[in-house]
Amino acid sequence: MIAGNTRTSVDTNRLPAEQAGSLNQDGSLLALLKRHQEGVAAMTSGAFTLAAWLLDQFPTLSIALYLLAYLIGGYHKASEGVAALLEERKIDVNLLMLLAAAGAASIGYWLEGGILIFIFALSGAMESYTMQRSSRDLASLLQLKPETALLWENGTEKRVPVESLTPGALVVVKPGAGIPVDGIIREGRSAVNQASITGESLPVEKTVDDEVFAGTINGQGALLVEVTRTNEATLFAKIVQLVREAQNEAPPSHRFMERLEGIYAKTILAITALLLVVPPLFFGWEWQQALYRSMVFLVVASPCALVASIMPAVLSAISTSARKGLLFKGGVHLENLAKVKVVAFDKTGTLTKGRPVVTRILPFQGYSEQELLHIAASIERLSEHPIAQAIVEKAAECGLQLEQPKQFQAFSGKGVTAELAGETWKVGKAEWLGQQHLPETAMQQVAQWQAQGETIVYLANRSGLAGIIAVRDTLRADAPAVIEKLKQLGIKVVMLTGDKRATAESLAQAAGVEEVYAELLPAEKSDIIEQLKQRYGSVAMVGDGVNDAPALARSTVGIAMGGTGSDVSLDVADLVLMNDDLARLPAAISLARKAKRIIRQNICFSLAVILSLVYANFSGEVNLPLGVVGHEGSTLLVILNGLRLLRS
Ligand code: AMP
Repeated sequence: MIAGNTRTSVDTNRLPAEQAGSLNQDGSLLALLKRHQEGVAAMTSGAFTLAAWLLDQFPTLSIALYLLAYLIGGYHKASEGVAALLEERKIDVNLLMLLAAAGAASIGYWLEGGILIFIFALSGAMESYTMQRSSRDLASLLQLKPETALLWENGTEKRVPVESLTPGALVVVKPGAGIPVDGIIREGRSAVNQASITGESLPVEKTVDDEVFAGTINGQGALLVEVTRTNEATLFAKIVQLVREAQNEAPPSHRFMERLEGIYAKTILAITALLLVVPPLFFGWEWQQALYRSMVFLVVASPCALVASIMPAVLSAISTSARKGLLFKGGVHLENLAKVKVVAFDKTGTLTKGRPVVTRILPFQGYSEQELLHIAASIERLSEHPIAQAIVEKAAECGLQLEQPKQFQAFSGKGVTAELAGETWKVGKAEWLGQQHLPETAMQQVAQWQAQGETIVYLANRSGLAGIIAVRDTLRADAPAVIEKLKQLGIKVVMLTGDKRATAESLAQAAGVEEVYAELLPAEKSDIIEQLKQRYGSVAMVGDGVNDAPALARSTVGIAMGGTGSDVSLDVADLVLMNDDLARLPAAISLARKAKRIIRQNICFSLAVILSLVYANFSGEVNLPLGVVGHEGSTLLVILNGLRLLRS
């Protein structure tokens, strides 16, 4: 039987606190009973039914016990059924089942009614359990984040609520304590356990200038951290928000099933009424017999198993993958991921580490290598692009003091312009710089470097080309294995990049990607996604979310690399790989496909049971006990089948 909470989705604002509360009191019997309230009610109702049956030589006592069993076991469902009727004007399976139990009792079949209520309450409790399981990760997450922080002011520590901290404040984090804020380390070093936000269980070494995140756990060292984000804006707050949204959003198949449930329930009631009236009036049946047959019909034709086919499976799958650092923003994305035919990877930062390094500097116009690097780095220091960071890092390595550029402007997917010492500079890709003549000898070299996977950045001033800088990004170590696995799953893998074709192809070859779309602007990436969708069907796009946002939005399933902590990626994507761990991707696709298979099995099985029991009832071959057991048994089985995904 379906629990109402999976239908109108649970009030998740309430869940975490409640859940966290019960975890706090873990071990206390009262808390345990409270958490499993529904299960306890179901078991009590079962015990009373058993006692009533054993004591059936004392009719009054026995019936009193049955009544108690009905009340205890049916209370929860009855309140849900009545709420659905009053609030949504909807007849649901809860009402059908209660009606059937009452009908059975009215013709003296107390035991069958009791069994119906018992199994019905039990399956509801199991569904609630799935809900709880899927919010337990969230609850334990919430527990990790301290409510207060040690503010460091004028050489003293003061304990303050985290909400009161503003960016720029300094907080002290003691060894072993939870980190209360998103910030940058100003003093100290420590190994930080970031499992709560990345799913990665190994601690990460951090020291001055490294970023730390709220909700992670400090290791052995004490840290002085400068707050960079307010409490509501932390990465942690975003994740919590995401998981809540995911639980609230039922996939379309489930919403369809809900609409169906309303119509179906009314139809069943109408047929039951006909069965009750027509045979006695026209075919000379006994009223008693007609009532019995119509009650059996009501029980076996109810769509309980059908309605329970989807949500327990979906929630189990979502919660399993959340535990492994892969967040779904809702059940619909699980369904979509199962359908994916093509996975498109962004190159920089997704297939590669996204931390390129400068490999060569080739100056013209009489500049020296150092001078060229100095100019490039002074301009690029204001850009966020990984190439810019590589150039700035190289300058720092060489001990260069950078200037402050004027009129800085960035052109997404092309390059940057700025003024430096009265000269106007353009730094970026060749096409964008316009007709710049490379010396004959340099041309050959550039082609060779590109074929080796290097990206060439051009610098030009008013007099023309002033030099080129080559940078190289390395492939993520796990990329080739992940791509191989995707191919084994029958998925086509393509790469999209703004980089030059030669550079892109060299990396694609190393990664095992056959199809490469190179030299794309961010808007063109999203056009390619559209074309791929038309050609192959569902397309997943994996990107770092910053300049890939349009493509992520256009794809069937947008998957963001979240480990870098980029907010944008969390906002635009449907799925977030918290640890930048690409290997989760084939695993997630397999899980989504498995969920789809399980849901399909559930629906077929439920339908088969309903049809055969209805048929058997019309041919008079099924009695009420058998009908109850068959019907409720099938409901329990589909829920259990869905729960299998918790262990995947
Ligand atoms: P993207 O799509 O962002 O990877 O950019 C595509 C190409 O534009 C890069 O491969 C570079 O050649 C060029 N580009 C973009 N931004 C910059 C920058 N800040 N500095 C140098 N080149 C850039």
